[in-house]
Amino acid sequence: MQARLQDRVAVITGAGSGIGLATARRFASEGAKVVAVDLNPDAGKAAAKEVGGEFVAVDVADEEAVKALFDGVVERHGRVDIAFNNAGISPPDDDSILDTGIEAWERVLKVNTTSVYYCCKYVIPHMLAQGKGSIINTASFVALLGAATSQIAYTASKGAVLSMTRELGVQFARQGIRVNALCPGPIATPLLMELFAKDPERAARRLVHVPMGRFGNPEEIAGAVAFLASDDASFITASTFVVDGGITGAYVTPL
Ligand code: NAD
Repeated sequence: MQARLQDRVAVITGAGSGIGLATARRFASEGAKVVAVDLNPDAGKAAAKEVGGEFVAVDVADEEAVKALFDGVVERHGRVDIAFNNAGISPPDDDSILDTGIEAWERVLKVNTTSVYYCCKYVIPHMLAQGKGSIINTASFVALLGAATSQIAYTASKGAVLSMTRELGVQFARQGIRVNALCPGPIATPLLMELFAKDPERAARRLVHVPMGRFGNPEEIAGAVAFLASDDASFITASTFVVDGGITGAYVTPL
């Protein structure tokens, strides 16, 4: 493997599971020093140990903790090159707008969107001082497509991540900071499998829209994140980077 991220300091939120974990592995295999962040200490510690990185327990919805995270990383490692702001939730009480209460709405917006605002707010000053940095914020294909099987707060939260990311990419483009939104399609992680895929009928209802006819796997997203993090993507910023098996391009899919 080409070491495109040799000695880069990379913070990954939600590194204990799914897309974050696969990206921690991929970043480490390309030479990065990984700071694995998670709310779940067991999963986060295991991820950090596996990739020879460092674990920091942070609730990304806690402003002070996020500020301390990035200040601490720069104190200990001298810099922060990559921020993969990826932690997110998709709880069962987030459903149709008719059934979703304000408590669920606010919780989802806080963990999925406000956390990205905090992470960007507190990493960008360090990147400005360095004159370089790559930020990748995890949005979703649901920021681009509507679903009749609604999760209203989740969808709104990811739309906000997408537009916030675009604006940051434009604002800081001349100061060496690239900011891109990653829009994964449905990926076979614990989050998705729990929600949709346990029931074959529910899975089939979704898979019919995927030209490739399958859910993605976390490693396929990690490859895209490593690309966006690396200098191979040096002319890419403010993008809506879709990795979705063709869903957003499809009308009639293959039989
Ligand atoms: P996952 O549930 O497998 O992993 C998420 C990780 O984030 C967990 O380790 C969890 O402990 C951590 N986390 C949750 N809340 C946190 C908090 N407040 N502070 C710190 N860590 C926290 O999920 P995943 O499927 O890998 O999803 C990762 C991201 O990708 C999420 O933002 C999700 O919305 C997005 N996404 C997922 C899919 C999919 O199909 N799986 C599709 C599009 C987008």
